[in-house]
Amino acid sequence: MIKAEIISIGSELTSGRNLDTNSAWLSRELAEHGIEVGWHTTIADDRAANRDCFALATQRAGLVISTGGLGPTLDDLTREVLAELAGVSLEYHEPSWQHIEGIFKNRGRQIPERNRVQAMFPQGSEVLFNARGTAPGIWMRVGSAIVAALPGPPREMVGMFKDEVAPRLATSGLARGVLVQRRIHTFGEGESAIEAKIPDLTRRDHVPEVGITASDATITLRIFGKGPDRAAALAQIAPIEEVIRERLGNLIYAADDEELEQATADVLERSHLTLAIAEGVTGGQVGAMLDRAHWQRRSFLGGIIAHGQPGEVLAGLPETTRMAHGSRSSAAAIAMAHGVRLLMGADLGLATTGIARAEEAGPGQEPGQVWIALAWDGGEAVFEHHWFASPGEVRSRTAKKAINQLRLHLLEHLT
Ligand code: AMP
Ligand code: MG
Repeated sequence: MIKAEIISIGSELTSGRNLDTNSAWLSRELAEHGIEVGWHTTIADDRAANRDCFALATQRAGLVISTGGLGPTLDDLTREVLAELAGVSLEYHEPSWQHIEGIFKNRGRQIPERNRVQAMFPQGSEVLFNARGTAPGIWMRVGSAIVAALPGPPREMVGMFKDEVAPRLATSGLARGVLVQRRIHTFGEGESAIEAKIPDLTRRDHVPEVGITASDATITLRIFGKGPDRAAALAQIAPIEEVIRERLGNLIYAADDEELEQATADVLERSHLTLAIAEGVTGGQVGAMLDRAHWQRRSFLGGIIAHGQPGEVLAGLPETTRMAHGSRSSAAAIAMAHGVRLLMGADLGLATTGIARAEEAGPGQEPGQVWIALAWDGGEAVFEHHWFASPGEVRSRTAKKAINQLRLHLLEHLT
């Protein structure tokens, strides 16, 4: 099976001024076509470097996809280098010139003579039409490799890949069916605890492959379905997803692009309850997350950032509780959850407090200790957690955990 190499061209990339996002996108996209990427190479706008790089890539890879270096300026060298490597000359392609000229006319601008190079193609190559910009791409054979040269701007690159490259990969037999990825997101347990529930699925040789990744306390399972077409790949995923859902239950909050805050907002709206929040240690992050969700009705009423005493008092923290337990304590979280609920006339109050930085710790307390409280009419629940993480992580993870506790509470109490 062939492997692909992706070459990113541009001094703005090698100097660190711009980030190479094209390679990452192309690798993911090629995986979906069943093509494995063996190399990512980034090079400056330098002729010798370009030639060496394409020479090596066309020897070791069956498919080479480059991005960048197709502009009209002197540092855009891709077409010349490809012609040189293939031992052919550059030919003028009238339809491409018409297209480029048309774009300039539309913008009411005079076309510089220099742009004519963008209508020059290595003899024997195919032109990849660019519906989103001036630079056409190139599809050609160099030695035993197929080379596709695409423009650098991500929008043009993505469009050209989908319109021009993907169909050619299918007809040339380079694509080996499709690979579909299903992502299942969990929150509440660590990577190894999750893995311990599905050791038979995460085995290296399991078909379909199941992988685990962790990001800011969210553990994501990826199921990679492979098949001759999308339907076959999905059919491989479905039974495994069912097993995972059975074993992990409510630890799973969403799949693919759905976020925790949206999953929680949906459950809250189904419950027809309203919510108010009081944030100590999370400093507004719970509110910002909930604000990002799409809401059908006014279920989330708002909240207080209780950063210091005036906010804590407003959120309903009594002086007696503060004196007895401190404002970073289980009792304080419970008091603020009830207080903000009553203040805003909500059905549910959610409060966070805790110690992000060492200097915030009281006697017997440690950084990373947090308390999340939920209050409702006639009841309350409090969750204590100890993170071993940086202050920034303590804040963001506590915000996620608070929202997740709300989700779990609602799921348990909804019939
Ligand atoms: P070029 O086709 O070389 O003229 O590239 C034009 C612009 O596309 C650059 O200035 C970058 O902003 C963008 N670009 C080029 N290569 C990449 C890449 N690998 N990843 C993201 N953006 C890129
Ligand atoms: Mg460039």
